[in-house]
Amino acid sequence: MEAYVPKSYSEVKECLSKMTPDSKFLGGGTDFIIRLHSGMAKPGALCYLGAVDEFRRIETNRSGIVIGGYATMTEMEHNEVIREQFPALMDAASDVGSLQIRNHGTIGGNLGNASPAGDLIPVLYLYDAVIEALGPDGTRMIPITELIERPGKTVLDYNEAIYRIHMPFPKFKSSFVKLGTRKKVTIARIDMALGISMEQDKVKSVRILIGAISVRPVKLREAEEFLIGKPLNEYNIMKVAEILSDYIMANTPKEFDRDYKVYASRGVVMDTFLKLDREKQ
Ligand SMILES: Cc1cc2nc3c(=O)[nH]c(=O)nc-3n(C[C@H](O)[C@H](O)[C@H](O)COP(=O)(O)OP(=O)(O)OC[C@H]3O[C@@H](n4cnc5c(N)ncnc54)[C@H](O)[C@@H]3O)c2cc1C
Repeated sequence: MEAYVPKSYSEVKECLSKMTPDSKFLGGGTDFIIRLHSGMAKPGALCYLGAVDEFRRIETNRSGIVIGGYATMTEMEHNEVIREQFPALMDAASDVGSLQIRNHGTIGGNLGNASPAGDLIPVLYLYDAVIEALGPDGTRMIPITELIERPGKTVLDYNEAIYRIHMPFPKFKSSFVKLGTRKKVTIARIDMALGISMEQDKVKSVRILIGAISVRPVKLREAEEFLIGKPLNEYNIMKVAEILSDYIMANTPKEFDRDYKVYASRGVVMDTFLKLDREKQ
């Protein structure tokens, strides 16, 4: 098996042009190395782009933040701009796996997995992220809503890497809560990303994204429309929880944990709204 480890941005394009349909990108390897060892993945070549500084940087510009595809969960969790302006991303990054997984697992790998339970995906929907993909012929921009084709498969070509993720500074408060089967190192059974702006104690704008109940995050439009112009009191938040329960009941297949999700989702809704009121925002 070939292994490519370009050391500079100029070497990256050369590496990308050598890739073939059975080549794979390697991020932190937290997921892929397990598949490699179990024989589930048998790539002809592996390409690691994390030695190139541009792929690791977290930078800001006048309109927002740009996160390199090889930025790790730990780096995002502790980044000051992310903590202050994108707290739902901090929440999600700090909830992924264990410390060891977070120290190696990258944002590019989380997206590359295209898992319905990928923790960062609902949050990137919330913040209108745009993925900058780099291929041998240059870059192209892909809105996050168009990235995932089906579970485990993105729209990226075999020789296109997740180079950077762009997100505008949000004009709303935000939070993220995940519910799994265990308290730690747990895969999401349901999660929620929330963004809200208020005007005179009434909801001016709201975004609600639910993860792990479908191939892609679900935008809970009915609840969003319900909340506009209303105060954030317990009654209205419970109504959102009810809308989510009804949605899960009507739209998820009758799999083993649907009933659990119908009830547990109510707690997730309450917790996500409660988390909005943290000091930093
Ligand atoms: C014990 C354990 C717990 C976990 N817990 C969670 C969890 O709580 N939440 C969660 O969301 N995930 C979890 N995961 C899954 C995984 O660790 C994360 O999704 C992580 O972010 C993957 O990143 P990585 O860099 O290690 O990806 P890798 O394993 O290196 O790669 C994953 C996939 O993405 C592709 N890829 C990697 N980088 C790029 C790139 N730059 N461009 C294009 N494609 C790329 C690879 O080819 C591969 O197909 C867990 C895994 C384990 C083993």
